Amino acid sequence: MKIKKGDKVRVLSGKDKGREGEVISVNPRLGKVVVSGINMVKSFRKKTQEEEGGIIEAEAPLTVSKAALICPKCKKAVRVGKGRVCRSCGANI
Ligand SMILES: [Zn+2]
Repeated sequence: MKIKKGDKVRVLSGKDKGREGEVISVNPRLGKVVVSGINMVKSFRKKTQEEEGGIIEAEAPLTVSKAALICPKCKKAVRVGKGRVCRSCGANI
């Protein structure tokens, strides 16, 4: 996994194509990442003593190959290969 928690990524395909967000968790075993505000799905939560319950929206994990790192220096989306190096400006990400 070349993408880490806290990275800024851009979505390359799917309904959120072109959108950007911060990685909030990674699952190396499944090759998936959860990105803030991306791939939102609605689910139903039961009412409990602490919470109201009802329909909630939450991020669903995204296949890591659908996300590209955003270079903090030149703001371009980078497909990470062997290292975390930007191919546009050469910055280490
Ligand atoms: Zn760059």
